[in-house]
Amino acid sequence: MKGLAMLHLEAIGWIEKEAPACGPLDALVRPLAAAPCSSDVHTVWEGAMGDRHNLILGHEAVGEVLETGALVRDFKPGDRVLVPAITPDWNSLEAQGGYAMHSGGMLAGWKFSNFKDGVFAEVFHVNDADGNLAHLPKGMDLAAAVMLSDMVPTGLHGAELADVQYGDAVLVVGIGPVGLMSVAGAALRGAGAIYAVGSRPLCQEAAKGYGATEIIDYRDGSLAEQVLALTKGRGVDKAIVAGGDVDTFADVLKVLKPGGRIGNVNYLGSGEAVRLPRLEWGCGMGHKLLTGGLMPGGRLRMEKLAALLTHGRLDVQPLLTHRFTGFDKLEEALLLMKDKPRDLIKPVVMM
Ligand code: NDP
Ligand code: ZN
Repeated sequence: MKGLAMLHLEAIGWIEKEAPACGPLDALVRPLAAAPCSSDVHTVWEGAMGDRHNLILGHEAVGEVLETGALVRDFKPGDRVLVPAITPDWNSLEAQGGYAMHSGGMLAGWKFSNFKDGVFAEVFHVNDADGNLAHLPKGMDLAAAVMLSDMVPTGLHGAELADVQYGDAVLVVGIGPVGLMSVAGAALRGAGAIYAVGSRPLCQEAAKGYGATEIIDYRDGSLAEQVLALTKGRGVDKAIVAGGDVDTFADVLKVLKPGGRIGNVNYLGSGEAVRLPRLEWGCGMGHKLLTGGLMPGGRLRMEKLAALLTHGRLDVQPLLTHRFTGFDKLEEALLLMKDKPRDLIKPVVMM
């Protein structure tokens, strides 16, 4: 089978590989639509997870089941399925402990394009098919369905990690597709003011559409000073980080009220350490929590998030700025994600 792979650090290309084998609990799926992710860019061009050789990329797809293992109950060849980017081993101890995304080790629930070949292939392998696939809801647009693989679950996880409550003042740093879904997640969870940080006008407009009440351009000066000016020195109750780098947290900590939480979903692709400024952290006594997480995966989560789309509570169409047709266009779409032109939010490829 053909696939678009990370050949080695900073190099991608098309390769031929043997199609994966289907174990008794597994499924083989062919993509119907797929999307590149900023994480693919961190992996290839920043080497964030170390070097990889001839690893097929991609972890965002919707597909058609080609084959199922003998023990798979709820899916059969021909079914059209949502595929989460994170596909845990549901019988692992980590899953039993409530952290399925880390089944088998930290971040090891993230298998596609990390520990095994990803979805930018003619055929890809899904472990634990009953636990990880979800049926594609009738009538759902395939491009929208691809946003359920990663952008919706990750962005909304930011709002969960920050524990956004009714009326909270929430800062969302980064309004690429992930941060936009964090803005939407904060609004869905009942935030009051939402301060959204990004410089691209298209993303700023989309953020307003998803519920941002104020836009901050981090290029206009200190992020912390801008937030403090807008909040009359009070700061925010919660913060979601979906952009920036290891130095972003210092600014966020400065504007976070005691008792506040920072929920990070940004993939920190470079930098040695995240530093927490001592004074702003209340000399260690400020009750300011910093947490970060890989999105939860699995079937139930996919079904629930799909319900947000089918019942009209969330519209992902504003994310889909670039549409391509044809498997071969995956390369162009991935390079677009790397170059991030200012009119891009998210590209999607229909097969
Ligand atoms: P984008 O690159 O599209 O968006 C990044 C956002 O951060 C943009 O709005 C950008 O502003 C903003 N930004 C950049 N630099 C700064 C800065 N110094 N200070 C403040 N804001 C800044 O990324 P995505 O939305 O596609 O992805 C966001 C992150 O989430 C990525 O790191 C991705 O790998 C990660 N991710 C994590 C997952 C998880 O499970 N935790 C899963 C999927 C993705 P602008 O461009 O407008 O200037
Ligand atoms: Zn992703």
